[in-house]
Amino acid sequence: MTEVSVRYYMLKKNFTFILIIMLATFPLCSSKSDNIYEPYYTKAQKLEMWKTLFNRTNCSSEIIGYTFLGNPIYAFICGNPRGGRILWDAEIHGSEENAGMILYLLAEWLVTSNTSVARGILESSYVMFLPMVNYDSTMRCNSNTSIGKYGVDLNRNFLNGWRRGDPNSDTYPGPYPCSESETKALRALFQSFKPTFYVNLHVGAGPVIFYYKESNSSVVEQVFSAMRTIASSMNLTPYRTIPIGSEGYAIGDAYDLGIPFTCMIEAVGRNEAWIYTDEVYQKLVTIYEPRCRALLIAQSQYFWSADGSADGVDGEVLPDTLGDSSSDIPYEKDMNFEWWRVVTPFMILILAAISLISLNKYRFWS
Ligand SMILES: [Zn+2]
Repeated sequence: MTEVSVRYYMLKKNFTFILIIMLATFPLCSSKSDNIYEPYYTKAQKLEMWKTLFNRTNCSSEIIGYTFLGNPIYAFICGNPRGGRILWDAEIHGSEENAGMILYLLAEWLVTSNTSVARGILESSYVMFLPMVNYDSTMRCNSNTSIGKYGVDLNRNFLNGWRRGDPNSDTYPGPYPCSESETKALRALFQSFKPTFYVNLHVGAGPVIFYYKESNSSVVEQVFSAMRTIASSMNLTPYRTIPIGSEGYAIGDAYDLGIPFTCMIEAVGRNEAWIYTDEVYQKLVTIYEPRCRALLIAQSQYFWSADGSADGVDGEVLPDTLGDSSSDIPYEKDMNFEWWRVVTPFMILILAAISLISLNKYRFWS
């Protein structure tokens, strides 16, 4: 070998070495992307199911914003645009797939069952479903489970009651309130859709309904009382109800932005939340969805009893743009800036450059 070809050979070897180092350390600089979940249906499959379900007369869909990774956040809408407004969402905790499944079953009953009760809801109410707020889920590790080391718990990222937290915790509230695009999209939707009822659906810590403690008490009493009556007529045990404050929860901001009654349903307990068997699926169909349905019917009945006129925003039609993320949130500086994520790749590059230069200088291979 000539000196030039040796030098070229070593240069190539050095680059291979640097490449290996960079690939090996890449996981340090990026999010983990383990996915241990095998839900009954994947998010992509569920999205197609929702699109098919709402591809019918008097139903529509909208994109109300985009997730951190740029996935669209879909809203599915049905009912009377001049009716009272009801908003239900699910999977703000991306791993809570069974919550999204319950919401799908609820929407399916509403738009396909053609029962007098379902027709009553569609005539009196304008209902919006957001089945997968956190579409990124485990891809971004913001799934609120211990498998993700990095990510933001979206239901702790809202302004009302936000507090700092450990970035390595599975309930990390984000670097500052409303730092996440999903949070901004939801806040914008609260302001543009202006529902009377907002339900934020979860699984894992139930079964229970946590309602925001400041919610309009007369509406709360009226609706929960109706819910219990409806549930018992369906031979169901209704969800028990507990008032709760906000620790950066969506229900806190929803209330602050003008929604009189906001609640968080924990539809299923820990034992069944992350199990995707036929047996659990049957329970979603026969127990958990009907229990949620009792609340939806009660909410709608609130509008029926209001002299036939919707209680929410009479006669106001839906604006063209549902989500507008430019709402005025008092952003704070990134308080939990993770310097090592930025510094580590630079350090690797500098070390690689130094090693290359020193190898060339001393030519100890010759
Ligand atoms: Zn949750």
